[in-house]
Amino acid sequence: MSAPTFPSGSVLGYPRIGPRRELKKAVESFWAGRITADELEATASSLRVAAAKRLVDLGLDATSGAVPGSFSYYDQVLDVVALLGAVPSRFASLTDEKGALDLAGYFTVARGAGEDAPLEMTKWFDTNYHYLVPEIGPETPVRLADDRVVRQFVEARDAGVVTRPVVVGPVTFLALSKASDDAPAGYSPLSRLADVLPVYVELLRALAAAGAPWVQLDEPALVSDSVDVPAAEVHAAVTEAYRVLASELAVGTERPAILVGAPFGGLVGPGEDGLDGLALLAATDVEAISLDLVKGAVPAGPVAGLADKTVVAGVIDGHNVWRADLAAKLDVLDAVHALGAGAVTVGTSTSLLHVPHDVEDEDWTNGSIDVRLRDWLAFADQKVAEVAVLARALTEGRDAVGAEIEAARAAVASRTEASGVVVPAVRERAAALTEGDFSRGDYAERAAAQQAKLNLPLLPTTTIGSFPQTPEIRRARALNVKGELSDADYTAAMQDEIRRVVELQERIGLDVLVHGEPERNDMVQYFAENLDGFAVTANGWVQSYGSRCVRPPILWGDVTRPAPITVDWSTFTASLTEKPVKGMLTGPVTILAWSFVRDDQPLGDTANQVGLALRDEIADLEAAGIGIIQVDEPALRELLPLRRADQAAYLDWSVGSFRLATAGVEAQTQIHTHLCYSEFGEVIGAIDGLDADVTSVEAARSRMEIVPELSEAGYARGIGPGVYDIHSPRVPSTEEVTDLLELAVKSIDPRLVWVNPDCGLKTRRYEETVASLENLVAATNAVRAQL
Ligand code: GLN
Ligand code: ZN
Repeated sequence: MSAPTFPSGSVLGYPRIGPRRELKKAVESFWAGRITADELEATASSLRVAAAKRLVDLGLDATSGAVPGSFSYYDQVLDVVALLGAVPSRFASLTDEKGALDLAGYFTVARGAGEDAPLEMTKWFDTNYHYLVPEIGPETPVRLADDRVVRQFVEARDAGVVTRPVVVGPVTFLALSKASDDAPAGYSPLSRLADVLPVYVELLRALAAAGAPWVQLDEPALVSDSVDVPAAEVHAAVTEAYRVLASELAVGTERPAILVGAPFGGLVGPGEDGLDGLALLAATDVEAISLDLVKGAVPAGPVAGLADKTVVAGVIDGHNVWRADLAAKLDVLDAVHALGAGAVTVGTSTSLLHVPHDVEDEDWTNGSIDVRLRDWLAFADQKVAEVAVLARALTEGRDAVGAEIEAARAAVASRTEASGVVVPAVRERAAALTEGDFSRGDYAERAAAQQAKLNLPLLPTTTIGSFPQTPEIRRARALNVKGELSDADYTAAMQDEIRRVVELQERIGLDVLVHGEPERNDMVQYFAENLDGFAVTANGWVQSYGSRCVRPPILWGDVTRPAPITVDWSTFTASLTEKPVKGMLTGPVTILAWSFVRDDQPLGDTANQVGLALRDEIADLEAAGIGIIQVDEPALRELLPLRRADQAAYLDWSVGSFRLATAGVEAQTQIHTHLCYSEFGEVIGAIDGLDADVTSVEAARSRMEIVPELSEAGYARGIGPGVYDIHSPRVPSTEEVTDLLELAVKSIDPRLVWVNPDCGLKTRRYEETVASLENLVAATNAVRAQL
């Protein structure tokens, strides 16, 4: 049997939370015991079928596997754990005799139960989506445990849509896994490839038997040379995997045709190390390869081995929200023909999981969002339609879609010319920047001036900024948004909250106080709402992890600050206490990382615009008497490019924008930053480069490991290694915190050490917050007494 033809237009995946977050609500209802597993299954089933039909309505073919079957109840990596029954031993009792997890068990592996910690969560390549990290050891069971993939194919088929099941590929699955706790030192999960492949073989056989023409195996490990597994090992594993899955099974009878997805960047190589991801895939017997042609360039062709394959050209951006210039995309498609593939079809660069459902889900009439954006944006549904138009251009010629091409051109042009997209004053200010705008004076002088002004004790205690966001705070904000609580009453309610938080910190005996951030819905959205050049949506939800969704702001124009944002809150707070109050801002890199960002200029230029707006805010805070200002950059590491070759340029502009934001202050004004992780790796030099006077980091779980690392790397400014983990409600004992602090002061000059929790307290309850902070202060006093 010969391979089926790949459909001319397709997408690598589609959002699964539902247009109104129906899946989120159903899953959370199930967790709360309000609905049964059967009811959850029924809701999910109707969402899947509706999504498949919607994709057909938007122009994907219903019969040939153009519609991706990319549903997940929680996470696509966890789905492979479930497929293989490869659960860590602590969850073994959740599986049945075949190794299968029921829905409740599946969620337990994701979320933990009692003392049994869930799988760890980490970022999926360069997105804000978080996957669950599988734990694989020599003893981890691996067999075909679950038939959801096949059942979901049959379900759609019975509803009239022949889908293309999407599964994380075996190499990427293992490359992203970590060694289980019981594995010997240096153990590589990839060594289980030979056990995992037979399960994929069985799955492919079952899909073929059910009539699936295509299956998509995603192997983004191929675009990164910074996953923990060296690229050469990834490549060897890919060759072996697709020998077993593609060459050894007959297409059509024993397996569906295989599309290998390679989202999030260009394939590695051809490079000096002799690695070339495209040549590698071309040499396998898979039938189709998708390329990310948004992040990656069109490789130089022709490529041997492609003549009998389809290249799915990922020209539509699955990871950002802008409407495409279709004519330009057709030019890219023309260039792809030079690769010498048997066929070229149209696709997305990544799954559409990373963008909201539908631009038309916004209310464009009530003034809450700039109506011009309606024509500039493409969310998932609009992108599917774009793919369908480009596919028609390929099959019927450009003229067949002349009107659509012209409409796209006009939309893109209107965005270029629209007021606010380019603000001359912003451009002039950026053009006039000099080296000096990015640097502060000598640190030793700054430190002396700051100490003279602030007169802080040894081991100053503080927090990272937010205090618990109570139900009352959320309720007040919701009422204010609905117009049922006046702005004045809302402000008064927040000021009451700040008063409570200040009194609490004074009572506990902290040295540097914060206002607690009650007025912020989110550390990025709050600033987006208060800066020009940003839009915020009402319905633009994107899955972050599990049932958790975020609404990233959209940065569409030149960024300006119409008025001071935080100054009143900070000065109000300062008026309540004699202690120093720390102003609190979100840094430019984090604002970019957690927004959808304009694609018409280099990210570094956009970051500098945000940096300048923050610089003005910092100047106003300083002028208002706020002597300590913290600029949070928890996402600094998150935006780090996947390819090492791109990392230096990134660190250059990202660190630069932070320095631009912070370098305008006097020596005596103390700049803090906060980073949300403890594994610095590639960014350790950048931490120093930020030139903040004090840097707070997560450190409790790694037992202060970061302190000697920083010290050895030559870092010699203030450091606040987190002394307790805020991700858990557990209250750390005074002894525990004392222990950690002793470790810290042993490995760096104690005069540099600050004492603070790992991160903000907004997700915690007051009960544990108060107890934990009391112990933090007691431990600090104990260690001070020894110094
Ligand atoms: N200042 C913020 C807070 O305390 C920092 C949050 C973060 O690092 N993610 O909540
Ligand atoms: Zn943090």
